[in-house]
Amino acid sequence: MPSTPSLISTDIDYERPGLQNGTLRVPYSHDRSAYGHIPVPITVLNGGEGPTVLLTGGNHGDEYEGPVALMKLVQRMPSMTVQGRLIVVPALNFPAFINGSRTSPIDRGNLNRVFPGARNGNLTEMIAHYTDTELFPRADVVIDLHAGGASFDHLPALLAAPPGDPSRRAEYRRLVQAFAAPHTMLMDLLGEDRTYGAAVERHGKLFLCGEFGGYAACNADGVAIVEDGLRRVLHTLGVTPDDNPPAPRHDTRWLKVDGARHYVFASRAGVAEPVFALGDRVEKGQLAARVFDPYAPWSAPQELRFAGNGVVVCKRSFARVEAGDCLAVLAADAHWQ
Ligand code: ZN
Repeated sequence: MPSTPSLISTDIDYERPGLQNGTLRVPYSHDRSAYGHIPVPITVLNGGEGPTVLLTGGNHGDEYEGPVALMKLVQRMPSMTVQGRLIVVPALNFPAFINGSRTSPIDRGNLNRVFPGARNGNLTEMIAHYTDTELFPRADVVIDLHAGGASFDHLPALLAAPPGDPSRRAEYRRLVQAFAAPHTMLMDLLGEDRTYGAAVERHGKLFLCGEFGGYAACNADGVAIVEDGLRRVLHTLGVTPDDNPPAPRHDTRWLKVDGARHYVFASRAGVAEPVFALGDRVEKGQLAARVFDPYAPWSAPQELRFAGNGVVVCKRSFARVEAGDCLAVLAADAHWQ
């Protein structure tokens, strides 16, 4: 146990055999509730010997395919037998999820930018701290499900993070191949290390995440990709030996986001007219968008150009932009490495 245990409490006993539905109680003392808490739903199915798989969604509150797939999994869990343990939290940043927003309405916290969190921090930091000190240490494999959210649409893609330890890469590759998403992408967050994924890697656990839709919608294909992919991964891990998951529907296309050249950012505020579509193959120097000045519509729009070759994997939803907003992300063809 960590020396400063989390202030988040739960009735869940992670070691108890069988199925438990419960909540993580995040203390929240405020004007209308002096001794209140935020109850974050969690389901644990402990089937004894075998790997522990932690499955989370709602890290961002406006991304729905993962949480819907996990709520459907939770519905099935009473009739499932597992060898190992499933820990499922469909909506980890629960205040954000209930609010339908990327960040928490209580503290504006972006859960995926505050790891490893803080025991005495704000609610979002406390959730990160609990995840980092209580959930990651119990897991062998961690899967965190995302989508583009309100501000992006995203090609359905598993984001692969091959382990640094070469002896574990074959094991990891089996999981990636079992998931069999239409795209498998090596992401480049330009040095960002406050993410959930960076924290999982510090624990040395196998980690998969992914983006399965966007526009803060719930895309049916995205849900199906997640559900089928998870079934194959759990079966491959030996957690659900009796399951007979569907065969992959996709030949995975490998992609890699590689540095700032694969991002398109606005450099001034305005109204953007994108001249590309999600999934387009584009070339360096090609026009990406025109940004008009709504206060001076007679002045020439700023032209934004792609700085590399690749496929558009991520496209901004909102036409209104501020300087620094990301309009698109590209990824180049890649191979398993
Ligand atoms: Zn997200």
